[in-house]
Amino acid sequence: MINLGAHVSIAGGIDKAIDRGEALGCTTIQIFPGPPQTWRTIHHTDESITLFKQKHAYSSVKDVFIHAIYLCNCGSPDPIVYDKTYNALKDALELQVKIGAQGVIVHPGSHRSTRRIEGLQRVVTVAKKLLTDVPHATLIFESSAGAGDTLGDSFDDLHYLIHGCGEPKRVGICLDTCHMFASGIDFRTTQAQHDCIASLIKLDLLSALRAIHINDSAHPFASHRDVHANIGEGIIGITALRSFVANNAFKGIPIILETPILKTMAVSAGASIEKPGTYIDDILRLLTHRG
Ligand SMILES: [Zn+2]
Ligand SMILES: [Zn+2]
Repeated sequence: MINLGAHVSIAGGIDKAIDRGEALGCTTIQIFPGPPQTWRTIHHTDESITLFKQKHAYSSVKDVFIHAIYLCNCGSPDPIVYDKTYNALKDALELQVKIGAQGVIVHPGSHRSTRRIEGLQRVVTVAKKLLTDVPHATLIFESSAGAGDTLGDSFDDLHYLIHGCGEPKRVGICLDTCHMFASGIDFRTTQAQHDCIASLIKLDLLSALRAIHINDSAHPFASHRDVHANIGEGIIGITALRSFVANNAFKGIPIILETPILKTMAVSAGASIEKPGTYIDDILRLLTHRG
């Protein structure tokens, strides 16, 4: 059975994410700690966190991931951005520990016209500080699409980060199928998928894999453009996505949808939570070819 879920909104209170996940039929959810496009952080009250934990304890939603806000850039040479990133991630990691989530997923960031290795070193430095300052927290680096000076678009980059942090139990990776495809990592044929898994094993990344983001891509292979498409409606296509999630190497890994259609669903957009039908079931059927 695939552990499938979706990114859901926390509008109206963090506990509402559990309701939205259940309404969709999720066994895994991902949430933002606050608005992803601003540095302004949301203060989650003790009451709302307690409510979240009470609901979570009896929920069909098991795994919970926090996705850091988009403004974070762990590789930034700008000390102001670097500091703001540290603070935002510290908040997110503290929230992760408080609510008992699996980890905080973050994009490694961009080296902003400095050398790639310098950017990667800055990511490692801030990550190590965060892991020291927030005991029991887990940081998860997401593979990126590789636009501009983006870090983390290759398995070599991800290996550097995992290895550099020196805390394999508390640092992991998240693979995003849209980002991998856009960055030029192929997995569409049996051979390509075999090579992809072999690279992950060789670089100690398979054991570091904590989650998979499953998204189709609106842009072509190696386009370095990060625009998600609904499952089966993009250029990757359902056949390749189906064989990717069916690969034994990924057995048991939580799989999270971040598809555009989620934004149009009531569960994702507003505070009202309506039964959105059988979305997760439909996607499961698509991905596993059932019925
Ligand atoms: Zn992401
Ligand atoms: Zn993603």
